[in-house]
Amino acid sequence: MTDDELRAEVEGWLAEHWRGLPAHHESFGRDPRSEWLGKVRDAGWAVPRWPVDRWGRGLSNEQARIVERAFAAVGAPGAGQDRSNLWANTALAHAADGFREEIVPRLLAGEVGMCLLYSEPGAGSDLAAIRTRADKVPDEEGGGWRVTGQKVWTSGAAVADYGMLIARTDWDVPKHRGISFFFLPMKQPGVEVRPLRQITDEAHFNEVFITDAFVPDDHLLGPLNGGWGVLQTALAYERSVMGDAARGPRSGAGGPKGDHSLLGLAREAGRIDDPVVRQQVAQAIAWRTLNRLNTARAKAELAQGTSSPIMSLGKLAMSRILHEEARVRTLLLGAESLLQGPDHPRAEDANFLALNAYFTSIGGGTDQIQRNIIGERVLGLPREPEVDRALPFREVRAG
Ligand SMILES: Cc1cc2nc3c(=O)[nH]c(=O)nc-3n(C[C@H](O)[C@H](O)[C@H](O)COP(=O)(O)OP(=O)(O)OC[C@H]3O[C@@H](n4cnc5c(N)ncnc54)[C@H](O)[C@@H]3O)c2cc1C
Repeated sequence: MTDDELRAEVEGWLAEHWRGLPAHHESFGRDPRSEWLGKVRDAGWAVPRWPVDRWGRGLSNEQARIVERAFAAVGAPGAGQDRSNLWANTALAHAADGFREEIVPRLLAGEVGMCLLYSEPGAGSDLAAIRTRADKVPDEEGGGWRVTGQKVWTSGAAVADYGMLIARTDWDVPKHRGISFFFLPMKQPGVEVRPLRQITDEAHFNEVFITDAFVPDDHLLGPLNGGWGVLQTALAYERSVMGDAARGPRSGAGGPKGDHSLLGLAREAGRIDDPVVRQQVAQAIAWRTLNRLNTARAKAELAQGTSSPIMSLGKLAMSRILHEEARVRTLLLGAESLLQGPDHPRAEDANFLALNAYFTSIGGGTDQIQRNIIGERVLGLPREPEVDRALPFREVRAG
């Protein structure tokens, strides 16, 4: 198929089917747009780079971009998930055949709410130190796994149907080699979710207490004790998504003119002719643009199956961009940024964006950890010392 034929087909399909959707801001739980997303999936536009027998169209990266651009031009969501849907990409790469056929199409249509059950009270940056355990139920007793432990900072857990879980399945080997990766059904008696209040006054993340919860055998992803490898796929997609985009203002707008860009705000505040302001706004815009280019390069690598440390560059850059934009926004507003409440939407937005920037600089691995990854795996610097790396996990001392 030529590029022109493809463009005509996708534009024709959109003209026939796309009727717009109500605005959607919630990023957790079952996606309210799932009816539309199901249509996009069935037409093969959701993952155009994947093969035809895997919900896709087997298109090259260049042709897939034609599809994504056609969707973007009319504001329709759902295309190009082969570069962004961390759940579906992880399941496609690592789930057993039967479970993959069942779960991947549902993930592409946003029919299942998902969360990430990685961090624990004693394991965050050092994620391989997890102590949540998964014990095999003998086949003669019905098979499957029983999971017990505690997770924390789990975004979206309160409305999730499944959690992507890392749990320890072998305590007698070094810490990275005894971890397995599961899809844990969240709606069961052994899973208790308690919301945590965040600095933004929202409660998106949670503590999750897991007591003897059940996981069927076919919900194990990748090899037994090979969960660290599966995790690298999932983390690469997560970091790529976080490096690419971040939440905008909570109001969904930003000022009386509805423009939340720094340029718009500088104009509104009557400071667009101030040379210092101009320089700072220009620098923030330049950083965004550069990061967009870097992310495009990183995503092209990701689509080729590379779990690349380049994702760490984008995520680290986005963290810096968000904090810097928040600083410039506050500078533009001056004393107004001290105000709060519905009568002061510009200040509300400025304060929310300043606080929410920490989502990107902590979640998905902190800025310091991204710097370590870039130092070690991109620049080839010596690894930081890790005294417990080769010890059987059972012998690792915990604080
Ligand atoms: C908004 C938000 C959402 C989140 N959502 C999820 C989620 O859905 N699922 C999930 O599993 N987790 C989630 N997290 C948890 C997040 O991944 C962890 O908070 C993060 O990995 C850091 O772990 P920690 O909090 O245990 O901090 P620690 O690991 O205790 O780190 C404390 C400080 O020490 C620094 N540090 C630690 N080790 C090193 C080192 N080797 N070199 C240099 N500095 C180091 C860190 O950078 C940090 O500044 C979320 C966090 C936030 C803020």
